[in-house]
Amino acid sequence: MLAMTEPKNDFPLIRKDILVRKVKIYGKVETLSPLKVGKGGGETNPLSPATMQIIRTYGGKPLIPGSSWKGVFRSTGEKIAKVKGVYTCTGLSKQTCMDRTLKNYKNRKVLEIFQDYLASNNISEAIKLVWDYTCINCKIFGGPSIYSAVTILDSIAEKFKIGYRAMIAVNRKTGATSALAKVEYVEPGSIFPFTLIGNNLPNYALGYIIKIMRYINEGMIQVGGNKSRGFGFVKFNNLTLEVSDYSGGKLKALDEIDKEVKIELPKNEKAEDFFDKTKELEGCFDEVKIPFPKNTVHS
Ligand SMILES: [Zn+2]
Repeated sequence: MLAMTEPKNDFPLIRKDILVRKVKIYGKVETLSPLKVGKGGGETNPLSPATMQIIRTYGGKPLIPGSSWKGVFRSTGEKIAKVKGVYTCTGLSKQTCMDRTLKNYKNRKVLEIFQDYLASNNISEAIKLVWDYTCINCKIFGGPSIYSAVTILDSIAEKFKIGYRAMIAVNRKTGATSALAKVEYVEPGSIFPFTLIGNNLPNYALGYIIKIMRYINEGMIQVGGNKSRGFGFVKFNNLTLEVSDYSGGKLKALDEIDKEVKIELPKNEKAEDFFDKTKELEGCFDEVKIPFPKNTVHS
């Protein structure tokens, strides 16, 4: 008979087999400066007057893909974690925490050890391994071989104007300046919806996500391209936080490092009020001792 270990409800943040909490943060994003969320090369529409185009829906509306949001959240989180002295990986393919080799496991990759545990039905060990050896960004935002705890939906503009700006195009390969490029962007004052959905997010993880949103809102982080030219400043509005297990004015601690938080959940609030009402969650992240990933030193 197989020696099976019974997983308990431990480490919900990295579990997909249990659902102890559903979270939804939603509202609006307004552009305060030009915003250019562009396409990669070679995908341009020949009918457009711009040589550098923004991403649009089939119907022509500007779009901020959920994957772009996630990239912004992940890189902002990296900066926040670094200040706290917490290691995060780059999240790039073959460089994630699942790709690390562990000395204490005969220099094998986390992913290989994980798969062996699963193959031999050692579910608890598999969960503990992922808990111990992945960073907070892998746990929350996922990676090539680890499911994400959050989904950010595509933001399709609800109100927008398109602008064009002539810029000197620099050839990245030769460094030479060549012809004028006509850059397309979304004008300030355009409005996009924003929706983030999360499963099993402990209070400190919620605080981490909200801190990232506050950094974006306060202009410490820009979204999209042409940042050096002052593009990409946005602010949030009409923000709501919903948490499925909220009860008695409290959010309970979800795991061994989490803390209970007393809070009045913000509903349709201005950004400033939303961040004010959720500052206990940010505080929970500020105070939490992150014990993972093991055996890493911050470079
Ligand atoms: Zn990682």
